[in-house]
Amino acid sequence: MPERVEILGLQVDRVNMEEVLQKTEEFIKDGGFHQVVTLGTEMAVTASYDKEFKEVINSAHLVVPDSVGILWAAKKKGKVLSERVAGIDIIYRLSELAIKKGWSFYLLGAKPGIAEAAAENLCKFREGLKIAGTHHGYFTDDAGVIEDIKRCKPDILLAAMGFPRQEKWIRNNREILGVPVCIGVGGSFDVLSGKLKRAPDIFIKLGLEWFYRFFKEPSRFQRLMALPKFMIMVYKEKLFRR
Ligand code: UDP
Repeated sequence: MPERVEILGLQVDRVNMEEVLQKTEEFIKDGGFHQVVTLGTEMAVTASYDKEFKEVINSAHLVVPDSVGILWAAKKKGKVLSERVAGIDIIYRLSELAIKKGWSFYLLGAKPGIAEAAAENLCKFREGLKIAGTHHGYFTDDAGVIEDIKRCKPDILLAAMGFPRQEKWIRNNREILGVPVCIGVGGSFDVLSGKLKRAPDIFIKLGLEWFYRFFKEPSRFQRLMALPKFMIMVYKEKLFRR
C-alpha cells in the first residue's frame, strides 16, 4: 500500500502517475470494485461539511492529489507528495496502457453528446482504444444507466459528473456496477471533446491551472473562494494540532 498523508481529515495517497497506472493494473487483475478519487482543494473544503462525501473519499482505494493546493497542504505538514496527478492526465496515460492491455473504458458524464465526442477524440489520439459505452451525466434513471454499464462490461468507468455527485454515485452503486476501476474525473470530458480548452502548459507547470479556468469561466468565481478557505483550514489545523 502506498503511504498516506492526512489532509483536513482526508487520507491522500503518496503516489505519482506511474504508481497510479500500476495500482490500476493491480485493481483490474483483482477484479471486484475499486474507487479512485482525484482530490482537489474544492473537494477537500466540501468534505469538511459533507460527512458522506468525506466518508466516500476515505473509503476509496486510491486518493490521488489533483491540485497544487493539496501538495502545498501536505508540505505544511512536513510531508512531500510525489506530484500532482490530474484526472485528465490519468485518462491520457491510462488510455495508452489500456490499448496494450486490452482494457475498455465507459465514459459517463457531461452534457448530452459530450461523452461521445470525448470518446471519439480519445480514439483518434489513441488508435485502437476500446470504448465500451458512453452516457451523459444528466440522467435521473439510475437503474437504466447501471444496466447499460453492466451490459457494456467496461474495465474502467470514468465518471465526469462533477464532485461530489460522481464520487457518491460510484460508491453508492459499488455492489451492482461490476466495474473493477471507477474514477471520478470532473470536467475532463468537456476538455477531451474540445468544448473547453485546457490551460496552456505554462499555467499547468506553474500550478496556475485553476487561475486559467477562472479567467476563461468567470462564473467560477464563487468556486474560487474555496481556495482561501482551504488555506485557512490548513493553517488552523496546523496551529491547533501542534
Ligand atoms: N455534470 C454532469 N451531471 C451533473 C452535473 C454536472 O454530468 O448533474 C458535468 C458537467 O457537464 C461537467 C462536469 O460534470 O462536464 C463538471 O465539471 P467541472 O468543471 O465543474 O468539474 P471539476 O473538474 O471542477 O470537478
